[in-house]
Amino acid sequence: MGGRSEGGGQVSALRPSNLPKLAVCPCYESNPVAGPAAERGTLLDTAFRAELLQTDDRHELEDKLTSEEVAAVSWAVSMVRAMAGRERVLAREDDCRLQVLDLNGTADAIVPGRLMHFDLKTGLRRNYREQMAAYALGLMGAHFASEWTCHLLFCDLREIETFRFTYDEAHAVVDEVVRAFHDPRKKPVTCEYCGWCAKAETCPARRELVAETLPVADPGFDFEAVIADPDRLGQFLKACAVVDDFRERAKKVAIEQLKTGGEVPGWRLVTRKGNEFVNSETVGQHIEEIGFGPVLSAYGNMTANKFRRLWEEHLGSSKPFPEEAVKHAAPSTYLKQTNPKTK
Ligand code: SF4
Repeated sequence: MGGRSEGGGQVSALRPSNLPKLAVCPCYESNPVAGPAAERGTLLDTAFRAELLQTDDRHELEDKLTSEEVAAVSWAVSMVRAMAGRERVLAREDDCRLQVLDLNGTADAIVPGRLMHFDLKTGLRRNYREQMAAYALGLMGAHFASEWTCHLLFCDLREIETFRFTYDEAHAVVDEVVRAFHDPRKKPVTCEYCGWCAKAETCPARRELVAETLPVADPGFDFEAVIADPDRLGQFLKACAVVDDFRERAKKVAIEQLKTGGEVPGWRLVTRKGNEFVNSETVGQHIEEIGFGPVLSAYGNMTANKFRRLWEEHLGSSKPFPEEAVKHAAPSTYLKQTNPKTK
């Protein structure tokens, strides 16, 4: 489920949705202030539930979504219906609550007749294995099953990831994370989740990394030696990522101070003129005079997913989507930090 605190009452660090993060850093603590991505996740999740249940407020919820988000939710609902077949789908929050090893959670939709549940995810694909293992464990207990299937619905990407667990497998996955969390000798492990962690600004592991990077200014700092050694290079980049994160946070604070009349010595606010543009309605009014061809070439290529959604919305299943028209751009390469346990 997208970003919502589970179980109600006091928010504990140890809850199913935090397990994938705790599996990497046992000291992770979620930030109590939900960011825009988490808020969007919760909204889409509510709309998904409402659509599955066909509740009266579903149109009201739909009005809060963009047309792309409406299409993403209806894709997820159609996947649930297709995989559930004639089986009953439970989607009321009260029907989807679960408890496992003292952790509370809420699945998005359960199909007890097929021993499976669905979880809606927004944004990029990430690891949710430990959260799904916890849900599987709770749902196996509630539905007297010895195996369980979890389907993650990445609605923005229109992708599905499926996990199947036996009781013992799910128990082992959850138990390992819970044990590491309760270990009195646990240590923070810097990772891709640091930016979301409530301790991001105070965490000793991150401060240590920053302290390692700052000697760049030291006259004795030998950059050639760093880039010549793969271990030092990796460590240096990891430290730079933390410094970048701190820098972004510091920039926000400085902008706020300068906007409210404060001073940050050495820095000032600069206002850039906004780009000029013509909205699509105006282009539409003149498109016949100019010609569709020149206007469409000026707009450029459309992503295949956007075109698929347009096709779905306007042509539905009346005509098959021309998959052969989808072109692939040249692959690009970028650097991504790996989590210590997934290296
Ligand atoms: S900031 Fe990063 S390393 Fe520190 S506790 Fe949080 S997740 Fe762990």
